[in-house]
Amino acid sequence: MSDKTIPHPKTFVDKARLGLIKGYRVHEMRTPSQPVRVITPSQTIGPFFHLGLVREGDDDVACLAPGGPRAQGTPIVVTGQVTDENGGPVRKALIEVWQANTWGKYDHPDDVTQAPLDPNLKGWARMLTDNDGRYRFRSIKPGAYPNPGYDNWVRPPHIHYSIFAAGLMQRLITQLFFPGEALNDIDPILNGVEDMDARASLVARALPGEADGSLAFAFDIVLRGKLETPFMVEK
Ligand code: FE
Repeated sequence: MSDKTIPHPKTFVDKARLGLIKGYRVHEMRTPSQPVRVITPSQTIGPFFHLGLVREGDDDVACLAPGGPRAQGTPIVVTGQVTDENGGPVRKALIEVWQANTWGKYDHPDDVTQAPLDPNLKGWARMLTDNDGRYRFRSIKPGAYPNPGYDNWVRPPHIHYSIFAAGLMQRLITQLFFPGEALNDIDPILNGVEDMDARASLVARALPGEADGSLAFAFDIVLRGKLETPFMVEK
């Protein structure tokens, strides 16, 4: 949820680089030039779509199997709540997250950077919100990485989110940013969110650390309304 106590990232300082994101090629490719034809009747996914989709250990980005060796990097725990327009909890929302490893490398063929892979990093997690709309996953803090082809800007550490819930016609995409990261101030994606409160809502709040030494962060998601989380077009 938007929290006015979160310090806003500074205004984007380099307008030329902000222009870069506005001409971001994939954004243009994502925008249909013609109205989309609806071929089949639309219908919501209903309340039961999640069955069988979440298995034990899926809520842990930082190991391949429960109890297995853990990925390198700073351990973190992320918790949050998914709420609707009226602040009510959204239960059984399916949240998927994915991220780079501690050196800023994705285990994906399109990641052509030279940083090493981490064999113990699953790189994604999947979980359902509980009856209070709350979720929780374990991970390691991802590293920053250069974005080749786009002025080599260095993306601040971030975690990608997909949210799917009953009543939605398609999943919603957003990104979690970490508080206190200097790179937040010059990230065209974060700073492309022009409303300052909305932008601040993408920066997780630091919580007291966990007993096991993990850093803890809160990241709430509002699906609709005045406090709506900024959602992005899928790449
Ligand atoms: Fe990323």
